[in-house]
Amino acid sequence: PEGPDVAVFERYESHVRSYCRKFPVVFERAKGARLYAEDGRVFTDFFCGAGSLNYGHNPGPIKERIADYLASDGMMHGLDMYTVAKRSFLVALTEHILRPRGLEYTAQFSGPTGADAVEAALKLARKATGRRGIFAFSGGYHGMTRGSLAVTGNGRARRAGGVHGQDEVTFIPYEDGPQGPFDSIAFIERLLADSSSGVELPAAVIVEPLQMEGGVYQASADWLRRLRVVTERHGILLICDEIQSGCGRTGTFFAFEESGIVPDIVTVSKSISGYGLPLALTLFRPGLDVWEPGEHTGTFRGNQLAFVAATAAAELWSDPDFLDRLPVPARRLAEFGAELVAAEPEIVIRGRGMVLGIDLGRKGGGKRAEEVQRYAFDHGLIVELSGRDDEVIKVLPPLTVTPEELDHGIGVLRAALLSS
Ligand code: PMP
Repeated sequence: PEGPDVAVFERYESHVRSYCRKFPVVFERAKGARLYAEDGRVFTDFFCGAGSLNYGHNPGPIKERIADYLASDGMMHGLDMYTVAKRSFLVALTEHILRPRGLEYTAQFSGPTGADAVEAALKLARKATGRRGIFAFSGGYHGMTRGSLAVTGNGRARRAGGVHGQDEVTFIPYEDGPQGPFDSIAFIERLLADSSSGVELPAAVIVEPLQMEGGVYQASADWLRRLRVVTERHGILLICDEIQSGCGRTGTFFAFEESGIVPDIVTVSKSISGYGLPLALTLFRPGLDVWEPGEHTGTFRGNQLAFVAATAAAELWSDPDFLDRLPVPARRLAEFGAELVAAEPEIVIRGRGMVLGIDLGRKGGGKRAEEVQRYAFDHGLIVELSGRDDEVIKVLPPLTVTPEELDHGIGVLRAALLSS
């Protein structure tokens, strides 16, 4: 061991990764929502790898399956091969997640990161339609590779990545979220109807049903249905990016479920493996299966250990005990949001299920949010910020959080937000 401090990171790791520097402690172990640092401190995790740990750290039932697989010398890498682990996952995904929701999708494994699932979705939409353009929403986040960054509605990140102003991508304003005063869908209709706009019919529209990095803006069921109607009318493919909003975060497995729409393409990653292991996939309507072998490939797509974990995670979605418990912490989180607003009417609360966005835009903005984050850290709670100016505290406890863990995190946030 290099010692209890963070000096090694400061010395040897790129300073560009500045987000690492917010939590100056070295973590060693984790269980459920608890993180244990090398120096003995214990933290509650309401960040959860930006939605990668919906079932908490080292969840028992999934861990056992991983341990058994390792003990049996299960295949660890199986590029371009049929494997038992992959087959089990495909069956579990279909039987426990897709079929009960009336969804029929074919899976393309991408990865290992979510951005690659977005790349696959964009490439597929372009190939299937023979068109180039993509409509995306301001505030949306889809990844840091050049294709996914080009549809990410964050001008600063796009400029830094050199993809700003790519003519194939049209950003649809989405100020104050889909329920805000600007009617994004009427805007899309106008753009397409007006030949002088110069905007050609796009291959696809990409949307996060719940913008997470953008500041926790939830699209209403009605808004998503309107988007589906417009895209269907024009033959535009609808891509829902469920990488952060999916896997139960909002209370349903997919955030779009409540609306009853069926997207043409869905990107999934983060919590799909159930264990923080890398796995990313692009789900698409069977009719969109237009790829030839080798057209979207990569050495580490489809990690075998992630398949094993993901199979156990998918099975949870048929476990009545797991499903019965889901609404309990979500209700507690919503009550806490209501309590904050009642005490401080300038605080704005958004979110659904196990995501709570505490918007301090009218209550000190990003600077205040950073103070709250720092206070939380000093009191043993990890939370992250989101939104255009990092003005929104994004509260993401694991779906499996215990009442004690939840109370600790809520208590710290309450003290930070209501003390002054
Ligand atoms: N889409 C969404 C909605 C995301 O939240 C993220 C990651 N924050 C990505 C795509 C990109 O995933 P990754 O970081 O694994 O490339």
